[in-house]
Amino acid sequence: MTGPAFTVRIRRQEDAASKPYWEEFELSFRPGMNVIIVLQDIQKRPVTKQGKRTKPVAWECSCLEEVCGACSMVINGVPRQACSTLVEGLDKPVVIEPLIKFPLVKDLVVDRHSLLDDFKRVMAWIPMDLTDTGPGPRISQEEQREAYPLSRCITCGCCLEACPQVNGASPFMGAAVLNQATLMDYHPTGQMNRSGRLAAVRGKGGLADCGNAQNCARVCPKEIPLVDSIARLNRRAILDGIGRWLGK
Ligand code: SF4
Repeated sequence: MTGPAFTVRIRRQEDAASKPYWEEFELSFRPGMNVIIVLQDIQKRPVTKQGKRTKPVAWECSCLEEVCGACSMVINGVPRQACSTLVEGLDKPVVIEPLIKFPLVKDLVVDRHSLLDDFKRVMAWIPMDLTDTGPGPRISQEEQREAYPLSRCITCGCCLEACPQVNGASPFMGAAVLNQATLMDYHPTGQMNRSGRLAAVRGKGGLADCGNAQNCARVCPKEIPLVDSIARLNRRAILDGIGRWLGK
């Protein structure tokens, strides 16, 4: 049984060097349909609304349950996950575009490596040398409660896409990276790299470049309290900087 028809407009591009263009598709609505199903329907029958046969649209997805962050795209002007975006709640036509803050690979596929590179800049990991050092330090339940919401990042890149400070003219690392620095700074083992991490967030493209637009928190699919996380990091980085200046 087919449901009522609706139109989807997709911004397409063969590769980073090609000119973008738009194509429209007409699909049948089914209850529970998400944007991944929209793209799968087009893949099964790549024919435009005007009846022209075309190439299937390229996109990425993996977990289909808002855990991997791979299916980030701009849907009706908002960066979000295609897997958790239901067609039912969207204005029509549904307009789908790739993220523009990352290099384009093809159609809706972008390269989010820069996000991981910026995680390295702020040492957002616990270094391991495979030495058995026994159990790590205990973390109180209160500390766990504080840190857990910050740990939900899926590196989807939506916060960077929505941030006016993340653009080609700015080295700003963005909310996801700063939040990961906050999380690592909470962790007693993560604090091993504290001085380098806090120096990095005080440096180029770090905290000082945040314009406090707060779009990051509005679009984060995991509802991470990014504004609060960045404010906490700011306090820690300032206190650390003053301590260094006083030679403590
Ligand atoms: Fe995505 Fe939120 Fe992580 Fe940003 S902080 S990358 S919006 S999950």
